[in-house]
Amino acid sequence: MLNDTFLRQRMVRELVEERGVKDKRVLAAMREVPRHLFVREHLMSQAYQDHALPIGGGQTISQPFVVARMTELLEVETTHKVLEVGTGSGYQTAILARLARWVYSLERVPELAHEAIRRMRQLGILNVKIQAFDGTVGWSEVAPFERILVAAGAPSAPRPLLDQLAPRGRLLLPEGDRHRQRLVLYERLSRGLRRRELDQVGFVPLIGRHGWEEEPPR
Ligand code: SAH
Repeated sequence: MLNDTFLRQRMVRELVEERGVKDKRVLAAMREVPRHLFVREHLMSQAYQDHALPIGGGQTISQPFVVARMTELLEVETTHKVLEVGTGSGYQTAILARLARWVYSLERVPELAHEAIRRMRQLGILNVKIQAFDGTVGWSEVAPFERILVAAGAPSAPRPLLDQLAPRGRLLLPEGDRHRQRLVLYERLSRGLRRRELDQVGFVPLIGRHGWEEEPPR
């Protein structure tokens, strides 16, 4: 049995806070969401360490620090409707759900989407809607969004996502090549978009109509 409360406190202190994440609400959310329940059983003992872990289908659950850092940069408020692209395990989704009013999350791999839906149910998280489709086209039925977070690396910001951003809205995504990217934060201002380049990161590719093409099978 894991002493998961203790491990989470330590994870937040050593892997998140000591590296400069300060937002109290983000730190509290990271202390509360049981990260070990978002990985397969044989990886649970590694859930509070400093790395991304495989979640099936060649995808990974992001490193704790990266989740915290991105969430902090997004500045999510309790009234916000958030769009997440790349649900993966649903860990980041669960963190966002503690901070926002609503979280809409899109995942292109149906099995991952279904597993994440099951986890939300298991954890009693009610303000999340997850669907399995290409998130590069956004979710026009529920747009606009005050915040959009993309958890996979894009060649550039998908136009539909920028279009679905509310006034003063923020879009955070990794932009770069298929393996290495830089976090880019877009902000919709009254006179257009502000664009800021931030940390270097390494996400799996964002595959879809306004992202990368699927890699040919070898
Ligand atoms: N933050 C997640 C990890 C995301 S990994 C977590 O905490 O677990 C990136 C995810 O983006 C993968 O699951 C991948 O399948 C998904 N993805 C890639 N391209 C996508 C697209 N166009 N639309 C939706 N999801 C996509």
